[in-house]
Amino acid sequence: MQHAAPDGSRQETPLLAVSYHQPSDQVEGGRGAIFVDRDGVLNRFGNMKKAEDLDRLLQPNAVESLLRLMSHTKMPVYVVTNQQRAAKDDRTLSQVEASLDRLCQLVVENGGKFAGVLFCPSRSQDPVPKGMVSGHKPNAGMFLEAARLDSLDLSQSYMVGDSVKDMLAAKQAHPEMTTLLVATGHGGRDESQPHPPEASVACIGEAADWIIGRESGRT
Ligand SMILES: [Mg+2]
Repeated sequence: MQHAAPDGSRQETPLLAVSYHQPSDQVEGGRGAIFVDRDGVLNRFGNMKKAEDLDRLLQPNAVESLLRLMSHTKMPVYVVTNQQRAAKDDRTLSQVEASLDRLCQLVVENGGKFAGVLFCPSRSQDPVPKGMVSGHKPNAGMFLEAARLDSLDLSQSYMVGDSVKDMLAAKQAHPEMTTLLVATGHGGRDESQPHPPEASVACIGEAADWIIGRESGRT
């Protein structure tokens, strides 16, 4: 599998993988985006050996909340998810990709579309060559790759996550990115040192309400 380096070159290093990406001509450059973590935010934790396992684990309001974000804000929505188990073998990688494809399919079936879905198969302990940025959150690689592909303004962007790693990664990508921490999943308890978000919300549905409220106040 090929991986994208921050300088745009393609190489065989497990730093950052873009598993799925819509053509960038669908995204208007120079604007903010909404980044959403998957596990713990859109779905409960659990084994996803088959694509359909995602359906069983999805939060009941996940797809509806994503669709509201897409239709009300008109901002591009990206999934950014650490999936270090994908580095284990090709079979596991296929399982990760199938579960992400299933998520995309559910969104499309309900009239929405992700601007992109990015996952990182590298682990926190993997060495990072000089000059490269790891995609493994709390590193900023996935955000920087989306911004590079679609000319996004990260300062005007949002990150919805359930872990401290999500909050840190967003701020590493841009200190002015607005972070929202949901109480589902890790609920911000994955690290001993908390990192206060701009907003603490109960779930993805409340995160969508918060972002939609903020964006409607801008116009
Ligand atoms: Mg998570």
